[in-house]
This record gives sequence, C-alpha cells and structure tokens, in this order.
Amino acid sequence: MRICDRHGCDQPGNCPAPKSPNSPDRWYFCEAHAAEYNRGWDYFQGLSAEEAAAREASERRTSAGYAQSKHQAWAGPGDGTRSRDEMRALDALGLEPDAEFDLIRATWRGLAKANHPDIRPNDPDAATKFQQVQAAYEVLRAAEERRSWKPE
Ligand SMILES: [Zn+2]
Repeated sequence: MRICDRHGCDQPGNCPAPKSPNSPDRWYFCEAHAAEYNRGWDYFQGLSAEEAAAREASERRTSAGYAQSKHQAWAGPGDGTRSRDEMRALDALGLEPDAEFDLIRATWRGLAKANHPDIRPNDPDAATKFQQVQAAYEVLRAAEERRSWKPE
C-alpha cells in the first residue's frame, strides 16, 4: 500500500497530485494532505534536499533568463551599454569595447579594403575576413544609429 508522500505522514496516499503543472510525475497524498497541497502549501517541504535544490536551481535559471531578456529589451536608444553582438563585432575588428564610432568606421574601411576580393582574389582567408568585417560593421553601424537617434 502507498503511504502519503507528505513528509512525516503515515496515512494511505491514494490522492495523486501533479508535482508541477503539466508534469506527468505525481505525488500521492492522503486526503488531508492532497487538500493542503491543492491550497498551495510550501511544496519544498517534504521534498528531499536534492529535489528541492534542483527545483530551486531551475527556478533561479528561469528568473535569470527573464531578467536578462528584460535587460536586452531595454538596451535601446540612449543606453550607452554595448550588446553581446556589438562586443563580438568589435572583437572581429580588433577594437576595444569603448572604441568611438569614428575609429570603428576607419578600422572597418581599412580592413574591408585590405581583404577585398578585388585586392585579394582567390584567397579564401581574405574572403572570410572580408565577410566578417562587413557583418561586424553592419552590427555596429545599426547600433550607432539606434543610439544616436533622438526623439524630437
Ligand atoms: Zn498525509
């Protein structure tokens, strides 16, 4: 016979309750504890330490994910911070994170010219570099436009 899953309870556990919404895993509680569970008692209590830690970690991951996407959504005009894409683009151009846009444009022009297919035909390394440089500049130019755009 099944015993109630509530810690310390020795009543028959014949009331299944989902461990989390849409989960196929079930707790089996006695009637009293099923009612308590359904009212939302602290569901960490009665889990093994391991289960509780795993659940807490996954919840922290979820909320960290929310916090991050919220931050990205707000990193728009007027916000001087650089996105991860911009950092990657600066890296591709060999520039520091705080490089001014004038320097970005000058560096892009130099690298694009040096690796241009007209200058280095049949050079796959140069062709790859040229594409990277173009893509990086496009990211940084778009970001600069967003940043310097001011409402009337
Ligand atoms: Zn019980």
